[in-house]
Amino acid sequence: MQTIIISVGEELLIGQTINTNAAWIAAQLNQVGLEVREVRVITDKKTEILRCLREAEDLADLVLITGGLGPTRDDVTRDALCEYFDCGLVLNEHVLGDITTYMEKRGRKITDVNRGQAMVPEKAFVIRNPYGTAPGLWFRQRGRSFIAMPGVPYEMKEMVLKHIVPALAKTPGGQHIVHKTVLTHGVGESLLLELIADWENNLPVELQVAYLPSAGIVKLRLTGKGNNKEALVAIIGRELDKLKQIIPEYIWGFDNDSLEGVTGRLLVKKRKSLATAESCTGGYIAHKITSVPGSSAYFKGSIVAYENQAKEHLLGVSHELLHTQGAVCRQVAEDMATGARQTLEADYAIGVTGIAGPDGGSKSKPVGTTWIAIAGEHKVISQQFAFGDNRERNISRAANAALAMLKGYIEQF
Ligand code: ATP
Ligand code: MG
Repeated sequence: MQTIIISVGEELLIGQTINTNAAWIAAQLNQVGLEVREVRVITDKKTEILRCLREAEDLADLVLITGGLGPTRDDVTRDALCEYFDCGLVLNEHVLGDITTYMEKRGRKITDVNRGQAMVPEKAFVIRNPYGTAPGLWFRQRGRSFIAMPGVPYEMKEMVLKHIVPALAKTPGGQHIVHKTVLTHGVGESLLLELIADWENNLPVELQVAYLPSAGIVKLRLTGKGNNKEALVAIIGRELDKLKQIIPEYIWGFDNDSLEGVTGRLLVKKRKSLATAESCTGGYIAHKITSVPGSSAYFKGSIVAYENQAKEHLLGVSHELLHTQGAVCRQVAEDMATGARQTLEADYAIGVTGIAGPDGGSKSKPVGTTWIAIAGEHKVISQQFAFGDNRERNISRAANAALAMLKGYIEQF
């Protein structure tokens, strides 16, 4: 089955909204063995929608449309569909009931505009919308399905998960697509490529590999396609075992794992606590750690010591050291970690100091220079990193590097 996603919305074309709907839908379809052939983004104009529908009909058997189903004047998808399928609108009592309930729950009165939303194209099956007022519309024609959904992400998601994916998954004779993503840190894309070249060259034909780098993390996605899901899972499992033997030091997780989640689980297992002392990351590491539910079980807190004085007063870094060597050096990172560990009474502590940029760099310490230290009961380790010249990416990479270092440290000590 060939699938096309049509995302309708001017806001997507001017870069105001990122097309997360298409990405999310594609991921859901993949899980039931459906591949998306194309994603199209178009403006909310009837003529554009009609053009796209005509073209999609030649290319796909399944066309998923999001956006433009609302009640405002810029929402023209329903009208375009009526014209395309050559049908009028009829009142749908179920939808009217849903809209009435929806408005009553919010203490609002149903308006003519809302009543207008209960008018649906005669030829469409309705997908009811518990979270909003616009229903989804499912058309079938000459063996093809055209499904229109609201643009609001959570309304669309409910429809995909509750109605569309279950219906599509039942279609017999489909292929299966299995993905497994291996998460690495501390190795660049090109070195990784060399390290695993033999493994990659000898992969079974059903498997493919993709490299997805971001902020110091390289995601290695293995995709298997075939008719037998169990066999694919087994093949991927075997190849994964081989990979783990080749690059054990770089792999820290799989699929949707996060570094903060993985280190959090380790801390829980070991019944140990953690603190951070952050300069250039400004609390971002603490934010990542605390975004994990249950982090209160192990996270003591963070000291954001941005200015030198704060490093001295809150973490006990020596005045002399800061003035002779500057704030970005091994000793300061180590003293920050040790200071946070003592002050916050934690088993482990991270210390980070660096030059995030764009200013503040020098010849010997260019923008991106960052020192990260981990302090524990037995010893302090530290490492220097040379990130790039982009402030945001430097902060992100420093946070990931710190968490990866911490993970390695906890596993060892
Ligand atoms: P409504 O009933 O709310 O008017 P609608 O079907 O008309 O729904 P839109 O008006 O197109 O939907 O979009 C509603 C909201 O959903 C907007 O905030 C928009 O930014 C967001 N949105 C629309 N399309 C997408 C998309 N492809 N990816 C992510 N967000 C989207
Ligand atoms: Mg709208």
